[in-house]
Amino acid sequence: MNKLFFVIVALLFPLLVFSQMDAKSILMQRGELYFRFQIAPERLNEISRIVSIDGYRNGTCYAYANVQEFAEFRKLGIDCEPVREYYEAKDELQMAESLNDMFSWNVYPTYSIYCEMMQYFATTYPEICKLDTIGTSYSGYKLLVVKISDNVNADEAEPEFFLGGQMHGDELIGGMVCLRLIDKFLRDYGTDQEVTYLVNNMEIFINPLSNPEGTYFFTPDSVNNSIRYTRDGEEWENFYDINRNFPDANAGEHPDGSESYSIETEAFMQYADNHHFVMSANLHSGAELVNYPFDTEQALPADDAWWQMVSSEYVALARQACNDPSYMTGDFPNGYTNGYAWYTITGSRQDYMNYFKHCREVTLELSMEKRLANDLLPSYTSRNIPPMMAYMNRATKGLRGFVTDSLTGEPLRAMVFVNGHDYFNSHVYSFLPTGEYYRYLKAGHYNVSFYVDGYIHKTFAVDIADGEALPLDVQLVQGYDPETIIDNNDEAISLYPNPVVDNLFIGGDKHFSSLEIYDISGKLLLSKRNVVGFVDVSMLPHGQYLLNLVSDGNIIKTKFMKM
Ligand SMILES: [Zn+2]
Repeated sequence: MNKLFFVIVALLFPLLVFSQMDAKSILMQRGELYFRFQIAPERLNEISRIVSIDGYRNGTCYAYANVQEFAEFRKLGIDCEPVREYYEAKDELQMAESLNDMFSWNVYPTYSIYCEMMQYFATTYPEICKLDTIGTSYSGYKLLVVKISDNVNADEAEPEFFLGGQMHGDELIGGMVCLRLIDKFLRDYGTDQEVTYLVNNMEIFINPLSNPEGTYFFTPDSVNNSIRYTRDGEEWENFYDINRNFPDANAGEHPDGSESYSIETEAFMQYADNHHFVMSANLHSGAELVNYPFDTEQALPADDAWWQMVSSEYVALARQACNDPSYMTGDFPNGYTNGYAWYTITGSRQDYMNYFKHCREVTLELSMEKRLANDLLPSYTSRNIPPMMAYMNRATKGLRGFVTDSLTGEPLRAMVFVNGHDYFNSHVYSFLPTGEYYRYLKAGHYNVSFYVDGYIHKTFAVDIADGEALPLDVQLVQGYDPETIIDNNDEAISLYPNPVVDNLFIGGDKHFSSLEIYDISGKLLLSKRNVVGFVDVSMLPHGQYLLNLVSDGNIIKTKFMKM
């Protein structure tokens, strides 16, 4: 396959019609195939590791695959067929012919009109809007972001929110919702109370097109024939589903079996590292529902009750906005689900953000039709504005404050751990340079501890209500913190530092004949005989661990935290 091939195809067939609807010819023209097959629900886990599952309804699984993934799938000997209605010629989607056309919200932007519109936002509203770039795709498309905030050129102590659309290049509603939301924020700032509140109290980053490479696969002038995957080279293995390509808490560095991250994945991870996103959303279509974490993990998230609250709020406000109680009922009557409970996937950005970046990210599926007809665009974009603003507003709530050194006032990076509640990396960190932290919690009573290496930890009892922003500033005192936990034994042992970065010292005059470290689910991770002084735990991911020490036939059970 070479570039020339794509150029020829683009010139000859502005709208491809797949008269020969066979898997091979589709794969040869598009680098990916959308297909379906019958499968028992128990086999979805196995299938999900081979291809990119997109939906599962009444025993039929819908999935995408690139050439290698499809070859792997064929080895299973399962009968499948291309999703005909997806490939069959339909009415061609109408594209905007000028920037002005965009503001009727019923046409899709060409790539150049999209860039012009993003530039227009920044130029027209320079006080509150700034243009930024995550990176550049293989063919040179820009991954544009607008930042919206008061004092937009400053990095203020405000919660940072990230919204991304069209990571799957053929799921076209996401980018339109983003563009319409940006327009509303900029236009209504100073007149609309809620808009003004969010712009003044948050830093909002919006990336309408997360995968322009897929959206404008055949030509920058049309979204007709957009594809789901991106590509970062000319070979078959260069096609990636970005939303299966992120490091995964359970499946490791490369859960999709590829050897590298796509350009978009790599650039996004870098961008996330350079910011402190505390909440985010990833917009998709092909279903109508709110999909909350985790996709990879069977256990419900520690904050399941909070997720159910924000998910049901999204659904209720969306239905209200379009005055249609059947919106978001296609797969679940209540309109939302835990990701794993729907069908498990690995390598999603949602899981990456929640597990590795301690950010609350949700996946929103906004329309059953991936390539939504022009006449439905105004209604489907406008109905998602009020719920999106309500979701964003949640970022300004919860337990929040600053962690500093009690003596010098210097801001600190602390682990904020909710005792008896946090697991699977649901804890958060305060971040520098300000020491600010945000911990979103469902109404209730919690004991929250603040840990910094070299400081004595502090624990606070907090009562928080739903929709409340509860300020709690914390000053920590420098010193050793030999957190002493006694379990089934009268013996006291001390562990320090705790939380630990690399070497965990085990204090006391006892000789320990052996040691075992378990993760919070009870899985044995490390076992050692004849423990002298310390144990190297640098290889463990951050989180809470259980430690069993054996001395004179007695087991002392304790816990420690790995930073
Ligand atoms: Zn998607």
